[in-house]
Amino acid sequence: MKALALLAVFAASVSFSIADAETVNMYVQRMPQHWQNQFGDILSDATKYWEAKAPGLKFSTVSHAEQADFVVEWASQYGEGKLGYYSTDTVNQYGKPKLTISLGYFKDKKWNLVSSEYALEITKHELGHAIGLPHSTDPNDIMYPTIENYESWQQSRQDGHLTATHTLKDPPTKKASSVDWQTKSQQYQKMSSNKIDSLDSKIAKAQGLASSEYSNLGSKAEMEKAQTAFWWAKKYLSMAEKKHEEAGSHVIQANYQESFKKFKSSFDYAKKTEQKIAEITKHHKKAYEMEYGKNSTRAN
Ligand SMILES: [Zn+2]
Repeated sequence: MKALALLAVFAASVSFSIADAETVNMYVQRMPQHWQNQFGDILSDATKYWEAKAPGLKFSTVSHAEQADFVVEWASQYGEGKLGYYSTDTVNQYGKPKLTISLGYFKDKKWNLVSSEYALEITKHELGHAIGLPHSTDPNDIMYPTIENYESWQQSRQDGHLTATHTLKDPPTKKASSVDWQTKSQQYQKMSSNKIDSLDSKIAKAQGLASSEYSNLGSKAEMEKAQTAFWWAKKYLSMAEKKHEEAGSHVIQANYQESFKKFKSSFDYAKKTEQKIAEITKHHKKAYEMEYGKNSTRAN
């Protein structure tokens, strides 16, 4: 139902703005390669979205601004909390209406990229303006105004809005933007700390086991494996400690997404250390049994 209502509005307003044209010509500023890698072809995805909603409508890119109905440009930041903008004002370097999509924003003195999911949604929204659509009062509609503000958009997603018309084709997944990195970072910081602490006495004990000496050839072979495992255990433990330290420097900079990654990596190395210690115990047990027999209770 909502899709039908949107189409009706769309049909009415498009006839005002782009006089009955079925092909909309865009002059598109090239997106820098590193952003293309990050965002993919969001403009093409956004045009397909509208083409599917309005049969007969076709977007085309032209090689000169003079041939265009409007210009699309990419910005690294925009003002006033708005990350997308469409203006019919032609007083600009192109002499054409202009659609601007900002792929980044400043927050707490740091520059961030928007999520690729948001970049696509805002491109759809501004493209909607470019073909003549006004804002919608329906919070579930792609033309709802809060989408132009990244924080409002993230908030509305957390509140569980934005589920109807514009998500029919590609429902947004609940990830990246709503993740609380600080909490996740703190969880892993604790887990990694506890694990590393518990390894202190375990590794000392493992070292004792790994340096046991036997005369039986099979036992000697097992002890070689135990020593290799001990070498790895030490290596993994030092990696766990190193990652933990690196995580700390990200925490100081309040970069919790990075500190989370490092703490998690630290925790993973600590788990690997534990596995190696278990191997040492296993090899030592085999060596002992080969030397003294399975049921022997004699100490070595
Ligand atoms: Zn808007």
